[in-house]
Amino acid sequence: MRQSQLFTKTRREAPKDEVAKNAQLLLRGGYIYKEMAGAYVYLPLGLRVLNRIMNVIREEMDGIGAQEILMTSLQDKAIWEATGRWSDEVVDNWFKTKLKSGADVGLAFTCEEPLTNLMREYIHSHRDLPLAAYQLQTKFRNEARAKSGIMRGREFIMKDAYSFSKDVDEHNEVYERYAEAYMRIFTRLGLGELTYKTFASGGSFSKYSHEYQTITDAGEDTIYIDDKKHIAINEEVLNDEVLADLGVQRDSLREAKAVEVGNIFTLGTKFSDAYDLNYLDEEGHPHRVFMGSYGIGPGRVMGTIVEVLSDEKGIVWPESVAPFSFHIVALGYEDEAVKAEADKLYEALNARGITVLLDDRIGPSAGEKFADSDLLGMPKRVVVSKKTIAAGLYELKDRKTGEVTTIAHEQLIA
Ligand code: ATP
Ligand code: MG
Repeated sequence: MRQSQLFTKTRREAPKDEVAKNAQLLLRGGYIYKEMAGAYVYLPLGLRVLNRIMNVIREEMDGIGAQEILMTSLQDKAIWEATGRWSDEVVDNWFKTKLKSGADVGLAFTCEEPLTNLMREYIHSHRDLPLAAYQLQTKFRNEARAKSGIMRGREFIMKDAYSFSKDVDEHNEVYERYAEAYMRIFTRLGLGELTYKTFASGGSFSKYSHEYQTITDAGEDTIYIDDKKHIAINEEVLNDEVLADLGVQRDSLREAKAVEVGNIFTLGTKFSDAYDLNYLDEEGHPHRVFMGSYGIGPGRVMGTIVEVLSDEKGIVWPESVAPFSFHIVALGYEDEAVKAEADKLYEALNARGITVLLDDRIGPSAGEKFADSDLLGMPKRVVVSKKTIAAGLYELKDRKTGEVTTIAHEQLIA
C-alpha cells in the first residue's frame, strides 16, 4: 500500500483524555479512532492487525476441529430466562433494548444460552459428540470502567468457543487440546514468553478454570508466577490448598500485574441441564451433554501486544501480526530516480507476496518520515534515497533490535 493513499494520518500527540498507552500509540499511528469511551473504530492499518490476529486464532481453532459459526448479537429474552441470567441482578453489564412490539431483546455479552438451546436441534446421539463451535463475534458489555483502551471495550470482538462432550473424561481431553492450542496462539502472536497459564476459580464442575495472563502493568489482575513450571495462580485462589495441589512453594512465587487475554472453563452440565440437552448412548439411554467454554479477546490481545512490545519511539509489531512486513521509506520521492527505484522495490516485494507499506509522501522531512516509521512499527524498514541509489545498497533496519544491515539491491529482492 502507498502511504500517500492512506486516508489516516499519524499525529504527534494522543488526545488528552486517553490514559492507556495502547490507545495512545494506536490513536497516534492512525490504527484506531475513538468513537467514545470503550468504543473504538478499527481503521485500515488497525483492521489489518486485528484480522491477522483473528486468522491465527481461526487456524488454531480449525486445527483442533472447532467449526466456525456466527451467532446473532440480538438475543431472545425467553432463552435467557431459562438460566436466570436475564436478570440485571445476576448479570450487571447487559445492554438491553426493545423491539417495536415492546418485546425485550439483549445484546450478546456471551453465548452459552443461545448456543446450548440451538444445539438441541443438532445433538441427539453419542455419534454427534464430541463437537465444538466457535465464532468471532461482536460482544456488548456495559463495563463500569473503560479506561484501558482497546483492552476493555464496551463493544468488542470476542472469540468464543463452546465444546460439547459425552462425559467428563471426553471433556478433559478436549479441554487439554484447547489449553495447548491457546499456548500456540499466544506464542504465534508474540506473547508466549510473557503469557502464563493461570489457575483461577472454577465452577461447580471443576476446581479450576484457566486464564491466560500476560504480564503487564496495564493489566487489572494480580497473579503469582512459578517460573520453573511456567504457570501462575490468580490471587483470587492463592491459598495453601491450591499451593499443595500444584506442588509449588509460596516463597518461590513472583507477584505480577497481568491482563487476561484468554480463558478456558469447564461448564459441566450447567447449561445442558437448563435446556435439557441430552444424547442417547449406544444402548439408547439418555445422558446430559458435558460442556466447556473458551474465550479470547482479539482486540485485547492487540492492545496487550502494544503495551508489552512497544518502545519509547512507538509500536513494535511481531511479524505475525504486523499490518505490513516492510516499510519502504523513500526520501525525496519527487526525484525521478528515487521514485523509480522505490517503485521498483515496492513492486518486486509485492510480486513475491510480501506485504509492503511505501512511504511515497512528498512533503514530510526525512526526520518526520523516520519518526512515523518508528511509530507505525513495521518489522523491517528499507530506506531508498539518492544516497542509497548512488551506493547501490539498501539500508535495512530491524524495528525490534534497531540493527541496520546494508544489502545490495539484488540481494534484498532475492
Ligand atoms: P475480565 O475478567 O477481564 O473482565 P472476563 O473474565 O469477563 O474478562 P470472559 O467473559 O471470559 O472475560 O471473555 C473472554 C475473553 O474476552 C477474555 O479472556 C478477554 O480476552 C476478552 N474480553 C472480556 N471482556 C472484554 C472487554 N470488555 N474488552 C475486550 N476484550 C474483553
Ligand atoms: Mg476474568
